[in-house]
Amino acid sequence: MRPPEAFLEKMQALLGAAFGSFLAEYEKPPLRGLRRNALKLSPALDAALRGWEPAEWNEALLFVPEGRRPGLWPEQAAGLYYLQEPSASLPVGALGVRPGMRVLDLCAAPGGKSTQIAEALAGEGILVANEVHAGRARILLENIERQGVANAVVLNESPQRLAAHFGPWFDAVLVDAPCSGEGMFRRDDEAIAQWSERALRGCHERQLEILLEAAKLLRPGGRLVYSTCTFNTLENEGSVEAFLCARPEFSLIGAERAMPHTHRGEGQFYAVFTKQGGEGERRLPALGAAGPDERFSRFAGEALNESPFWRETRPQGDWLYALPGGMPELKGLRVLRAGLQLGRLLPKRFEPAHALALCAKRGIFQQEKVLLPEEALLYLRGEALEAHFLGWGTVTLGGWPLGLAKGAEGRLQNHYPKGLRREGLRACP
Ligand code: SAM
Repeated sequence: MRPPEAFLEKMQALLGAAFGSFLAEYEKPPLRGLRRNALKLSPALDAALRGWEPAEWNEALLFVPEGRRPGLWPEQAAGLYYLQEPSASLPVGALGVRPGMRVLDLCAAPGGKSTQIAEALAGEGILVANEVHAGRARILLENIERQGVANAVVLNESPQRLAAHFGPWFDAVLVDAPCSGEGMFRRDDEAIAQWSERALRGCHERQLEILLEAAKLLRPGGRLVYSTCTFNTLENEGSVEAFLCARPEFSLIGAERAMPHTHRGEGQFYAVFTKQGGEGERRLPALGAAGPDERFSRFAGEALNESPFWRETRPQGDWLYALPGGMPELKGLRVLRAGLQLGRLLPKRFEPAHALALCAKRGIFQQEKVLLPEEALLYLRGEALEAHFLGWGTVTLGGWPLGLAKGAEGRLQNHYPKGLRREGLRACP
């Protein structure tokens, strides 16, 4: 579908002599990216991806060659990579995330940038990944668990309620705002169909509202990154200027508009701010841990390797979670996940969770079966495999677990979650 004329006129005014190069990009197919998961390094995957070209701005992000379909490979189910539009990986690079930080991703689903932040945290500190739409928040959770992130809180909240709960608690905040998506025009006709001057104004107003809440969540001295996948000045420079006028304690330290003819990707804008004053850093009460659960301790003794990497656990309903250090109280918030889901506390026993198997820590389970590529396809369809061990263990591909299996009566019962099972996958060539 051809982009709207009014959009093209705006782009001509914005780009001047470069407009021709921009327009020429619409004759080309969209670019796709695969970001290797730094939490789950896999030499076997690296070998399969040899020769794929990395993005200049992120060496973990590789351009997917024409005709390759990594969305169908079983290695994706093991969380070895995330399929991300190449330029969408730019804003997190500007957020300055280091291990140990408290980072908020305010508009997080489906989770491309949250999983990237989690990689930069390297298991230390806390990522709060929030998504206001319930259905999208569930997808976000699925992606965070698949990538093996153990130190995340996944919330389904409005920015207003988050600001009221946390106040200035975070070291870094990302606002990857809902926008008119002009950068998606090459691959999404729906974005073209919904484009109008009125829609741009609506997006701009909503962006400012979200930014004003985000401002309350950042501690003094912290960093805020605002990003969109659109090109117009109202939603980019316009939202930045309106925000700076309303919040003089913030300073702009940089901004970039990546476009298909300047960066190989669909396009992204991001602006980076620091906060100088305002209310001092908030201290929050810690989420209380519980003493050891006898059912879990027994299970861990039988099925897990020693020395768990988590410090504290806490039950929530029937489920047991491992808490990352420094976890704050979350009472009153809609919480999808707080830490790593370890498993289910049944009346007389403990049943491990898929998230525990997928966690980015090798060798948690004593027993594992290394799958051949064809066996991985069977497993992800939900079929039983030939027995290799008795009791609980994991099945692995590319050096990392795909999920859980339980050996009994000559078979490995398949415990890959029913909602995730897929037909039509193909082995990575
Ligand atoms: N950061 C995500 C990623 O990298 O995968 C993409 C985020 S997408 C550009 C913007 C998100 O903002 C959407 O998931 C949308 O549901 C959410 N959103 C929509 N309205 C919102 C609002 N008023 N406040 C906060 N988030 C909102």
